[in-house]
Amino acid sequence: MSFDINNITRKNILSLKPYSSARDEFSGDAAVFLDANENPFNTPWNRYPDPRQSQLKAQIAKLKPVEPSQIFLGNGSDEPIDLLFRAFCEPGIDNIVSIAPTYGMYRVAADINNIEVIESHLSSEFELEGNDLLAKVNENTKLIFLCSPNNPSGNLLDNNEIKKIILSFKGLVVVDEAYIDFCPERSLLPEIASFPNLVILQTFSKAWGMAGLRLGMAFAAKPIIDVLNKIKYPYNLSILTQQKAIELIKNENNKTEWVDILLKERDNLIENLHKLTLVKKIFRTDSNFILIKVEKPVDLYNYLVGEKIIVRDRSRILLCEGCLRITVGSTEENQQLISVLQNTPSKFQ
Ligand SMILES: *Cc1c(COP(=O)(O)O)cnc(C)c1O
Repeated sequence: MSFDINNITRKNILSLKPYSSARDEFSGDAAVFLDANENPFNTPWNRYPDPRQSQLKAQIAKLKPVEPSQIFLGNGSDEPIDLLFRAFCEPGIDNIVSIAPTYGMYRVAADINNIEVIESHLSSEFELEGNDLLAKVNENTKLIFLCSPNNPSGNLLDNNEIKKIILSFKGLVVVDEAYIDFCPERSLLPEIASFPNLVILQTFSKAWGMAGLRLGMAFAAKPIIDVLNKIKYPYNLSILTQQKAIELIKNENNKTEWVDILLKERDNLIENLHKLTLVKKIFRTDSNFILIKVEKPVDLYNYLVGEKIIVRDRSRILLCEGCLRITVGSTEENQQLISVLQNTPSKFQ
C-alpha cells in the first residue's frame, strides 16, 4: 500500500494555488456581508452559494457510508469525469483504459482533454475480462474507467474482477455506479475505506429522479477529493440545486418506492418482450433499462418514432449489433410500447 496521490497528479495541479473566494475566506455567521460585491437586494438569490456545499454533503453523509470529506459534488457526473482527466492526465502524453461498450462521456472527456482511450472489450455477454484489461495498461495509464451496472448493456460487472484491477493498478480506478440504486447491495462504495485509489461515481439523475437538477457525486479517500475540490469552479452548484436537493433527499422513501415500482415494471416488460417474435434476445439487466436484439433495429427504431415512442438505437456500437436500449417507464408508457410492438408490421421486424 504505497499509493500516493501526489505521484499521479499533474505537476501544474500540484503547484496550483486555487482561487480563494470570499465565501471560502469567511464562512461563519455574520450580520453584514460586504466581502463579495453582491447586491444587498433580491434575497436570497443575491448571495453566492456555499462553495463547499456543507449542508448538502452532511445530508448525503447520512444516506451513505462516507464522511463529508470523502464526497465531491458536481454539475452532474459529467463534472467529476472531466475533472479527473484534468487533474491526473497530461494532454498528449497520458492515456486511460476503459471497457467497451460503455458510457460515451468517458471518451468525450478524454477527447476534449487530448487523452488516448485504450479499450478492453467486454465478452459477448458483456462480462468484464480483468486480465485483458490489465494487459492494456502501460506506464502512461493514469485512470481506468469501469461502469457497473454498465451502460448500454445494463448488467453489473463482477466485483471480484473489479477488486483485482484496483489491487493491481497504480493509478485511479473509477467505477461509475450511476445505476447502483437499482441493486444497492452490490455497491463498492464501502470499499473506498480500503482502497486509496478507488473513485466511485454516483448520481441523483436516475433512481432519485433529479436529472434536471444536475447533481453528481464522486466518492473517494480524502486526498483524491481534495484534488477535485481544488480545481472545480468555486461555485459549481447553484443555490437552487443545493436547496432543492437538500429538500428532496429528505424523502428517501420516494426513491425507494420508485425503485420498487421500476423493478416490477422491468420484470413485466421483460416478460412481455419475451413473447414477441421480433425480439431475438434480451440481455441481463441490473438497471432501469433493457438492451434487446432485433432483426432490423434501425427500421424498428424509425417505426417507433413514427408511433411517438423514442428508444435508443445502439446498433452501431461495438458488440451491440442489432440492439435497441429501452428505458423502463411508467406502467402506461410500458404498456404503450408493448402494444405498439405487438402490432408492428412484419416489414419492420
Ligand atoms: C446517466 C448516466 C450518468 C449520469 O450522468 P449525470 O451527469 O449525473 O446526469 C453517469 N454515468 C452513466 C453511465 C450514465 O448512464
